[in-house]
Amino acid sequence: MKLIGAKRFNVSKLSFLALAFGTLLPDRAQALPDLTLAVERAKMTIEYKRRAFDPSECAVQEGCIFNSGGRKLLLLDAGIRNMGASDLVIGNPYEHPALFTWSPCHGHFHMKGLATYRVLTLSGRQVARAYKQGFCLRDDRPKTLNPTPAKYTCDYQGISVGWQDTYDKSLDCQWIDISGVPPGAYWLEITINPNHVFQESNYSNNRTLIRINVPYHVYY
Ligand SMILES: [Zn+2]
Repeated sequence: MKLIGAKRFNVSKLSFLALAFGTLLPDRAQALPDLTLAVERAKMTIEYKRRAFDPSECAVQEGCIFNSGGRKLLLLDAGIRNMGASDLVIGNPYEHPALFTWSPCHGHFHMKGLATYRVLTLSGRQVARAYKQGFCLRDDRPKTLNPTPAKYTCDYQGISVGWQDTYDKSLDCQWIDISGVPPGAYWLEITINPNHVFQESNYSNNRTLIRINVPYHVYY
């Protein structure tokens, strides 16, 4: 099973998905979802950790790290909000094989290309990258005063207007492998829906740059 990993990303395939996904778009052309990152939460939860991985672990098999053994990780929570005028509707993963891959190791579907994470030098050169495995896009937390009831689950996926899907950094693969990145100041770039697989009313708020400092000492 080919899973999305930093080395296995295929842009042309995702561009094709963007076209294929046209059938799932909301009815009214003017009312569209608008996905954006919960930036403060991302900033507040950044953490650096070393962790030892056995070759048999899912994280190794699914390409969430580049090698087994001791790795240096940058971890953070990712909340993806729909601040648009229309729900993001995806539906049953079984009916959308182009959007999901089945992960035999994790035992669930992984959505492809939901977000990209890159670590860049201050002059913009990439030094690390990862792909988040958004396996279940759903209504996790309401982010408006009078939210509609939660509608979307792992079985029928999407994000309602005003809701957020939150990925806690304790989840497997919710990190960037920064082994080999020297200590110092960098940009962390997070882009939601980077290939516009999901049609939105506004793409200008999809990319976030956060200034980070990779510490000299990172502990297990
Ligand atoms: Zn998984």
